[in-house]
Amino acid sequence: MATVAFIGLGNMGGSMAANLIKAGMTVTVFDLNPVAVEALTSQGALSAKTACGAAASADVVITMLPASKHVLGLYLGDANNKGLLEVVSKQTLLIDCSTIDADSARIVGSKAADMGIEFMDAPVSGGTAGAAAGTLTFICGGSEAAYTQAQTVLTVMGGNIFHAGAVGAGQVAKICNNMLLSVLMVGTSESIQLGLDNGLDPKVLSDIMKVSSGGNWALEKYNPCPDVMENVPSSKGYQGGFMVDLMVKDLGLSQQAAMASNSSTPMGSLARSLFVNHARQGNGSRDFSSIFEQFSKKK
Ligand code: NAD
Repeated sequence: MATVAFIGLGNMGGSMAANLIKAGMTVTVFDLNPVAVEALTSQGALSAKTACGAAASADVVITMLPASKHVLGLYLGDANNKGLLEVVSKQTLLIDCSTIDADSARIVGSKAADMGIEFMDAPVSGGTAGAAAGTLTFICGGSEAAYTQAQTVLTVMGGNIFHAGAVGAGQVAKICNNMLLSVLMVGTSESIQLGLDNGLDPKVLSDIMKVSSGGNWALEKYNPCPDVMENVPSSKGYQGGFMVDLMVKDLGLSQQAAMASNSSTPMGSLARSLFVNHARQGNGSRDFSSIFEQFSKKK
């Protein structure tokens, strides 16, 4: 059974690491937040004092960090800290599941390749519920060998595992998906509010649209209107889930990619503007479905 180092135990990483432990794997964890580490050691994880300490003797290293700068810093190190690439063996498989820009993934991938180490970007889709249930979609970018080797751990944490192409390709597919998700969440929010404003019950309206031509993931799994669905962030004060700040980051990445490839993404651009405005109003750490409140009437 593979020994795994898991670094970054937040809303997503905590549940993903827990599923590896449940599957009987030896998992050594590290996070800058000791509370997050304690939550995993109480479920049977080992802990290390540093990320490099956790990674040094692992067969597979998985990272789940907020953004590009955290991933670059952790893998490459700096003047004061060693990077993961310096401490792992050539047999170790490195998998970064964070959503970051494709160029940063390629920088880490190319440095790893120079050292004879396999690195794969494997951003995920499916949210915190998917992470908890072990049904995430993994979108991998890396060599065929890395993709094959990764199956042992990815199949424990996910239901759908895709190979999008070489290192960086997973990140490109992921930002395309999240740009579409943001557009769907905004459209779903304004549609439900339009129904509410015109006397409809949001549950009835959601049931109708879910099986009609407007049906989408937000309606099926993540309704943004409070109390329409149980166990989703909108029914829990928009706590947990996927932070507005992270969606703003992803929409920045998709706009950056669109600029570089001269692609036209008017809906993505508008969605970014709406989420940036929402974050600036103090909603950055709330779930992204709280964008619904931009449309709902305040008392
Ligand atoms: P989070 O902020 O809840 O967790 C990130 C964790 O990383 C935190 O516990 C933080 O302490 C830790 N961390 C930061 N720098 C570190 C370092 N140098 N060493 C060790 N730990 C460090 O974020 P999250 O919601 O778990 O998201 C993680 C990534 O997954 C992001 O890139 C996000 O875009 C992506 N993602 C999130 C969701 C979601 O629904 N939350 C869905 C898909 C993808």
